[in-house]
Amino acid sequence: MGGRRKRAHGVAAVSVDLDEVPCYAAIHGLAGSTDPAVRGALESSRQAIYERALPRLVRLFEEEGLRATFFVIGRDVSSPGNAERLRALVHAGHELGNHTFQHLYDFSRGSAAEIEADIADAHAAIADATGFAPHGFRAPGYTLSDLVVEKLVKLGYRYDSSVFPCPAYYGAKGLAMGAMRARGRVSRSVLDDPRVLLAPADPYRVARPYRRRGRGLLELPIGVTRGVAGRLPYIGTSLVLAGALGARALSRAMAGRPLINLELHGIDLADAEADGLEWLAPHQPDLRVPLATKEAALRAAIREVRAMGYPWVRLDDAADELASRS
Ligand SMILES: [Zn+2]
Repeated sequence: MGGRRKRAHGVAAVSVDLDEVPCYAAIHGLAGSTDPAVRGALESSRQAIYERALPRLVRLFEEEGLRATFFVIGRDVSSPGNAERLRALVHAGHELGNHTFQHLYDFSRGSAAEIEADIADAHAAIADATGFAPHGFRAPGYTLSDLVVEKLVKLGYRYDSSVFPCPAYYGAKGLAMGAMRARGRVSRSVLDDPRVLLAPADPYRVARPYRRRGRGLLELPIGVTRGVAGRLPYIGTSLVLAGALGARALSRAMAGRPLINLELHGIDLADAEADGLEWLAPHQPDLRVPLATKEAALRAAIREVRAMGYPWVRLDDAADELASRS
């Protein structure tokens, strides 16, 4: 051991939602585009996240010496080459989590049978292809419901990580959806109950409704900062837009949290030009940031958090650690 390293009373975890390109087309109302140029570009880049961005993330994590959690959409498992890519993640010591089979943005509003099938189908697809049975869950679009929690418990899940108690994100999402409606495009997003903003920002066991503390499933809320700045989003999108200096400052504003839960998306390390995603860049601000800048910001955050005394662990290990404390 190299001297007296500062030891924080907490752990940090990085997770990556492997939302593939068609998810972004759906969010931005481009999935049903009749423009042949958009349709062609979407078709030729539809696996850009797994093929192009994922290897960059894996290399970054390897260089920084950390193991991560990858939330997988079940329907993507059978796309060409993906089963092998996911097996490689498991082999490298990463965790695979369940991000539903269909990634419907109104998933949490489905019937009991629909919700259960969407979770169970993803579980089976991931476990069959990789031998890794997921025990963590993340809902599409951060919208949870009591019914979803009930099904996760029934299916034996150890933790959920979907609550995002962030007013800035909530406001931005509402504005974006309103602006799209005004332009005649239809986003598949739904807005959660605003009371989610009052949910705890640190890990808790859920009650009914899931926004309250209780004795149920362990919830690992997605990162929001502490302190005078209020609850700013501590996620890949905000880090890459903030750059390395801003990413460091946001990281320091996480100090004191028992869990620093950094959520990334595969698209955070996409390169609009090299990956054929220029058609998406007008709608996705982070795609207009150069890849090297985005990578430097993520690296700065990872190193800053480590310097604050937080070890980087997988979300399932964080869940074990936090469950043993409560
Ligand atoms: Zn997603």
